[in-house]
Amino acid sequence: MISKLRVEPGSAPQLARRDPAGRLDIPGKEEGKALLQPLVAELGVLQNRLAAEAARSVLLILQGLDASGKDGTIRNVLTGINPQCCRVVAFKEPTSTDLAHDYLWRVHAACPARGEIAIFNRSHYEDVVAVRAHRLQPAKVWRRRPQHICAFERLLSDEGTTIVKVFLHVSQNEQRRRLQERLDDPEKGWKLRQSDLDDHARYDELMAIYEDTIGATSTKWAPWHIVPADHNWVRNVAVARLLVDALRRLDPTLPPRPPGIADAKLA
Ligand code: ADP
Repeated sequence: MISKLRVEPGSAPQLARRDPAGRLDIPGKEEGKALLQPLVAELGVLQNRLAAEAARSVLLILQGLDASGKDGTIRNVLTGINPQCCRVVAFKEPTSTDLAHDYLWRVHAACPARGEIAIFNRSHYEDVVAVRAHRLQPAKVWRRRPQHICAFERLLSDEGTTIVKVFLHVSQNEQRRRLQERLDDPEKGWKLRQSDLDDHARYDELMAIYEDTIGATSTKWAPWHIVPADHNWVRNVAVARLLVDALRRLDPTLPPRPPGIADAKLA
């Protein structure tokens, strides 16, 4: 499954040729739920070892259009994880303090410490995608950013952070259905902004920007994965597998028991 999702470094993601409603050989919702459960449990065990080892870290970067399911992924996939060794960071429009620094300043500060898993709900990719889509900076500024980002991620990787990058690929029809559901729901409607509706109308343009950006930033040390996101149950299993796979490859080891503890007996 993972190789199907991966964007090989140097190649284009070809988003238009990937099916957002793809099922990745999962027959249905119930089977999806059944597959997710053991993965969530394994994530908890592996995270505990990663924290105990306290030498390396994992960074999950979630990008996607509005209503592509970033929040839902975090809620469903990371339920088995100890919140003390995990941080979720949602990147919003930069504040005036953020803007007084280079765009990676706030991002670097939010990166996981050794032993931690960090989840970025949006990320430094907004500094290319949102900036380009909303013409916040001239082209010469956003054009040079993919190169900075590849070098920045190389630094993180060299220093012990495994980076898992996920683009949640939702179709325009499914995005419309979800936005309409939010418009109709008093518990959710407050969160919508006019810009979300405007961006929905510009779906093709935003996808073209993602096509370029993902193609320019899928590297050996931080490859992108395109996860079909029209079905929540497919998306959850795919992201959980990507995380479990990254942690299994790290194979974190528990430190030895302190001398005297191995055969200690309680009074
Ligand atoms: P979300 O949609 O992630 O649930 P919000 O509705 O608060 O949360 O949206 C956050 C907004 O902040 C998005 O429109 C996103 O494009 C924008 N944003 C995040 N980072 C940046 C950035 N670096 N530059 C410009 N806009 C950004």
